[in-house]
Amino acid sequence: MSLTSLSTTSINPTKTRVFSGTRATGRLHLGNYLGAVKGYLDLQNNPDFDCIYMAMDAHTITTPYDAHGLAQASREVVMDYLAAGLDPDKAVITLQSLVPEHMELAFLFSSVVSVAKMQHLPTFKDKVKQHPDNVTMALLNYPILMAADILIYQAALVPTGIDQEPHIEVAREIARRMNDLYGTNFPEPKRFTTATQYVPSLTGAGKMSKSVEGSSINLTDSLDTIRKRLATCPTDGGQGEVLPTTGGVANLLTFVEIFQGQARRAAYEADYLGKGLRYGDLKAELAEAIFAYLAPIREKRSALEQDLSLVDRIIKQGAEAARTIASATVAMTKKQMGFYGQN
Ligand code: ADP
Repeated sequence: MSLTSLSTTSINPTKTRVFSGTRATGRLHLGNYLGAVKGYLDLQNNPDFDCIYMAMDAHTITTPYDAHGLAQASREVVMDYLAAGLDPDKAVITLQSLVPEHMELAFLFSSVVSVAKMQHLPTFKDKVKQHPDNVTMALLNYPILMAADILIYQAALVPTGIDQEPHIEVAREIARRMNDLYGTNFPEPKRFTTATQYVPSLTGAGKMSKSVEGSSINLTDSLDTIRKRLATCPTDGGQGEVLPTTGGVANLLTFVEIFQGQARRAAYEADYLGKGLRYGDLKAELAEAIFAYLAPIREKRSALEQDLSLVDRIIKQGAEAARTIASATVAMTKKQMGFYGQN
């Protein structure tokens, strides 16, 4: 990516539209990268697709957050995107809140969704467990806002991890309902999957997530931090007749396969079933492998940190390009729904 040349990325109406985003809740981790951003890159680099990628700052306020840090956290997501290879010459890159039409469309969409449907989503129930004192209307509305994020661009493809599948299904249902009731023409979006669509947590339970303390390795972590994070991953005695299929050991073996290959995993598995597996050695080697894998991202990230005005220009230009499409979709939807003055 040439970070010095910045074109005005335009949207081509004949190409398949792609939309995705990441909440501005912290630095990107391996789960975000392998489960989502690698998919963003594949589609950005394919001329058949027009891609729009955002830091989802409006989604950030659906769980407790730090208002003083929100603007910087949003910019950090964009910087991680650029460091990972997203290219403003190939994709629209910006912040969700700079395109306020997303929120307007979400309100219109909320009129075709029942409260009961949203309350029964497994993703909602998980968040309620995580934040029992913050079960807000914004949290309940999360999937509706996500449907608006996608459908406002008539996006047919959404590169995202498997954890988001229930939300993509809601977007499809909303598209169908809007089309049936109001004669709109929203596509039914599909999820675009990467080879690694689910990255497990270092805690041994659930997925790697920014919002679960100790669960993740960030793209820009130092070798020392990666070592420390792997050190907390729970293990066992290192020997047994059957390989664990869940928990810390299973997750470590998954990481070995991703970053060191199938053969290395098979060797560790043989140790586990035979002479015994030394987790200290495994974790040390794995930390080096992850650190080496992330080297190009770290290098681009530190170059970007020297040119924050470029990052801000990319965000501003991306918002302008996105708003052109978003405002047309909102106008079309309001017209179909019978609002005054939309002819
Ligand atoms: P987080 O759960 O860390 O807050 P987000 O909800 O912002 O992450 O998700 C951003 C993108 O990263 C989504 O497309 C999501 O599917 C993907 N993603 C997040 N965690 C994982 C994971 N552990 N494995 C695979 N993909 C993931």
